[in-house]
Amino acid sequence: MKGKYRRFGIRWKLLACFGAFASVTIILLWLCQNVFLSDIYKQIKIREIKTAYSRIESSIDDGTFAGNAEKIANEYNVCIIVLAQFGSFETVSVDAASYCIIHHTNITGLMKIYNQAMEKDDSIVYYSRLKDSPNVYQSDVNDKDSEQSIVLSGVRAVDGDNAIIFLNSVISPVSATVNTLNTILVYITFALVILSVLLAFVLSQVISKPIISLTRSAQRLAQGDYDAVFTGGGYSEADTLAATLNYAEDELSKVDQLQKELVANISHDLRTPLTMISGYSEMMRDIPSENTPENLQVIIDETERLTSLVNDVLDISKLQSGAQSFEKKRLCITDTVGRAMTRYVKLTSGGYDITYDHGEKKHYIIGDETRVLQVIYNLVNNAVTYTGEDKKVTVSETERGGYIRISVTDTGEGIAEEKLPLIWERYYKVDALHKRSAVGTGLGLSIVRGIMAEHGGRYGVMSTLGAGSTFWVEFPISEE
Ligand code: ADP
Repeated sequence: MKGKYRRFGIRWKLLACFGAFASVTIILLWLCQNVFLSDIYKQIKIREIKTAYSRIESSIDDGTFAGNAEKIANEYNVCIIVLAQFGSFETVSVDAASYCIIHHTNITGLMKIYNQAMEKDDSIVYYSRLKDSPNVYQSDVNDKDSEQSIVLSGVRAVDGDNAIIFLNSVISPVSATVNTLNTILVYITFALVILSVLLAFVLSQVISKPIISLTRSAQRLAQGDYDAVFTGGGYSEADTLAATLNYAEDELSKVDQLQKELVANISHDLRTPLTMISGYSEMMRDIPSENTPENLQVIIDETERLTSLVNDVLDISKLQSGAQSFEKKRLCITDTVGRAMTRYVKLTSGGYDITYDHGEKKHYIIGDETRVLQVIYNLVNNAVTYTGEDKKVTVSETERGGYIRISVTDTGEGIAEEKLPLIWERYYKVDALHKRSAVGTGLGLSIVRGIMAEHGGRYGVMSTLGAGSTFWVEFPISEE
């Protein structure tokens, strides 16, 4: 139903646009032919007669006038009479127009016209041929319905004589033409109206078709169907929108997948320690002899695991929402890592060989100590978890091009190359079924990534399957 309304909407809007366009066009055409046509026509005639006049003047000057008069008359559709004031050359007369005044008057009439013209700024006199008595001309009557003559006169000196020039251009009445044009305009109006309706219909169809199909797919997506395919078609904007929506759908489905995994992971990760805690507690309650410090330690360990899991989840959500505040100050990274290493001393009695290699020089960075420690702990914890039979973990500090690099190397199974970019993602575990992986939350490395981004640092991993991995982070060095 909604789709139908939308199509309806576009069609009416387009129809209104085309209607407005057609109306403006028709009004302009009407104005041109009914208001401006006669003026425009008159202006064209005046320009023509003036051009013809200057052609005549120049041909009089170079003595070619007698030969050229006919040509000029035909070219500009004017009648010409040139009189010699002192009779030193012959009168030239070309009667090219249908009924001009200069060829229908005598010399007295011509001189009257000449005198009248001389009083005008542009030397032009207008005559109207009266409708009722066609042989009578009246000067300076502006009647659209009667035939008009424009007479331009002037004088030009020639070989001791004067050439008195008369040019006459006839303006036919435009009213008949306007009537014809108005009839045509009625047809044009009809054609434009039909064309507007048709165009509005076709265009609205072309525009709305992909929109309706996109809307349908969007409705499917809104109901959680990530298989809905957005297709554009018709025009590039719809294609771009479809591509964008397909991309958004992919991203949404990833987020949805992650969310499902999150619930599954967290509930699984919470359930294991909780089962242990409740199991051990019940056992200690029911069997007094099981009330041993070892069993209590299991409960404490599991509680710690729960705490760290909850902390990790809180950290990652704070890092992602930007709610995590960093208290950065200048700190000695060499000492900070050294301090972190003391936490692992206890492990050495369990057969672990954990070393920290660093030079004499101490390095400084600008950072939040708690967060920097968290990065080191996460990397070393992973190394301890995943290292090989020899239980060897090496932490080292090296300086490289303005950055201080902390590397954590283990001798474990390593990570397949195609998995390397993924391990930094939230909740990603290389092999969820792997016994050791089940221990982690899959959040540690994405917390490292978030903290490193906040410190303008870099991070990475080099790993060889079967030989071990080296995780590294680099902080910009803060010089004194
Ligand atoms: P987890 O809490 O599961 O360790 P992490 O984000 O720290 O989560 O690590 C993501 C995954 O990367 C781990 O599940 C593990 O499969 C892999 N990984 C991390 N560190 C190492 C390592 N040193 N050696 C081998 N695999 C590792």
